Amino acid sequence: MINKRWSGITISSGVGIGRAVCVPPAWMHPTMQQMTHSIERELSKLNRALEQTKQEIAHIRATSVSVIGPHQAYIFDAHLAMIEDPAWWREWHECIQERGMTASEAVLHVGERYARMLEISYDPLVRERSADVRDVVQRLHGHVVGHRDRDVQFGVAPFVLVAHEVTPSQFVQLDHRNLRGIVTGAGGYTAHTSIMARALHVPFVMVYDEDALLGIEPGDIVGVQANIGEVIVHPSADVATQLQLLYEREQRQLKKMRTLSMARAQTEDGHTLSLYANITTPAEMDSVWQDGAEGIGLYRSECIFMASDGYPSEEQQYDIYRKTAWACRGTPLTIRTIDIGGDKHLPYVAHPVETNPAMGFRSIRMSLAEPARLVTQLRAILRASVYGDVRILLPMISHIEQLRELRALISSTQEQLHAEGIATRTDIPIGMMIEVPSAAIMAEQFAQEVQFLSIGTNDLTQFVLATDRMNERVTHLYHPYHPAVISLIRHVAHVAHARGIPVSVCGEMAADPLALPLWIGCGITQLSMSSPRIVLIKQALPSCSVQRSMALMPVIGQARTASEIMHTLGQAFVPSLVR
Ligand code: PEP
Ligand code: MG
Repeated sequence: MINKRWSGITISSGVGIGRAVCVPPAWMHPTMQQMTHSIERELSKLNRALEQTKQEIAHIRATSVSVIGPHQAYIFDAHLAMIEDPAWWREWHECIQERGMTASEAVLHVGERYARMLEISYDPLVRERSADVRDVVQRLHGHVVGHRDRDVQFGVAPFVLVAHEVTPSQFVQLDHRNLRGIVTGAGGYTAHTSIMARALHVPFVMVYDEDALLGIEPGDIVGVQANIGEVIVHPSADVATQLQLLYEREQRQLKKMRTLSMARAQTEDGHTLSLYANITTPAEMDSVWQDGAEGIGLYRSECIFMASDGYPSEEQQYDIYRKTAWACRGTPLTIRTIDIGGDKHLPYVAHPVETNPAMGFRSIRMSLAEPARLVTQLRAILRASVYGDVRILLPMISHIEQLRELRALISSTQEQLHAEGIATRTDIPIGMMIEVPSAAIMAEQFAQEVQFLSIGTNDLTQFVLATDRMNERVTHLYHPYHPAVISLIRHVAHVAHARGIPVSVCGEMAADPLALPLWIGCGITQLSMSSPRIVLIKQALPSCSVQRSMALMPVIGQARTASEIMHTLGQAFVPSLVR
């Protein structure tokens, strides 16, 4: 049938068209054998297969570094870690030695048990790791039984991969130059294959009706319009031509964007800014690099709590922070402790009704009222600190006493971990958000007690102007360019410089190109924003200069209205590029 269309969830957007390469369902069924084997032989089979699997994964890892880039290769480090996990090893041996299983049965039995354990987790991130477990187990099992036929034969002409599920190691072995799309019946937005597909801009749709896949034969022409979550099987000649043209147009656009996002963030006179990403989930890590970020300036950790149906345990949090730190590969990971309350609620907590929730029982105030919960989070962060350049950021600080109490809590948590024999970094930088007027006014005093400052312009604006950022009736008064807000930002930047500690901006204003001359003029060199905005900042920066920005500062200092400030900032740009 011509133009047969199926709908699904967009895992990675884009458009592509090619011939179907169909992957048979993952092979995972143990053949129970009778005990006609010797324990020694099965153990040596297992050990040999383990060595072969390790070498193979190391080889795939090296391929993935060259094909996809170093930031994605950590997935295969995780695969290696699984295969080297002593707990797995113990269980395999127990199955073979005490339960009379063959090496083949033991591998599948233990692997399936771990995969199922992950599958029942309430955390989608953990759940989706079951695909990694199965991937590793299938690979190992292939070596135990001597089959190497599980790897897909990949297309050489433009092709669309059609499968129940695509494992990460299958994905890296594809010929990506010819891969035009992926259609599956299972998977998830945060599964590693999905992450890699997005990193490579491969259109990927997970169809709602998996039976649709049965109607696709190898060699059928398949169009993937992932932008609208659609798969077209046997497109007519007209539709096929349209899809091909859309594909080519997208490739041209991507090329332009990629070149720009990889460029240095530099003014016309060579002054550089460090641009970091704000993230809410580790699944964003792939796009963060593609977008040209230099690390994570703000991880809104409350999103972990909001996505759960109960407080996540220390282990669950640790696993997320550790993986994110690992994915940062030595670049900063700034984890802000839970900032709940105000407009952000936890579904499993009865938040009291308050007259003024934004100024009520929220954020660090909740954390200090329930220190045990904060300690759980701190333990998880401190444990993860050995995996990268982890920094702790404290939200909503308004009083010096809060900061002191928190620092004492961090120290005692660290001591407790050390007493338990658990390693942490000892020099972990502790910073605070400047988002409450008292913190900005007393920046001098606060700066003496922290290692860095991060200006949260979203809240700072609402509190300085007494204007609820969530209330559309007062939106016209909510203005981050108001002279009072700007004057506090300049004050904080000045204090941080005088004390020699880093200061960044992580509110939405950081992503507004118009504010660039302000940051340059007051010496702020670190900005953190939602990563797709980075390219806009990189585009605007070359039309700014240090000299012009500095020259505007006295004018800005004298301004009486937000419009005057915006107008003045606009003058710092090369005229043709003023927004
Ligand atoms: C801010 O207030 O500017 C900020 C970055 O924090 P959030 O938007 O999460 O309140
Ligand atoms: Mg805030």
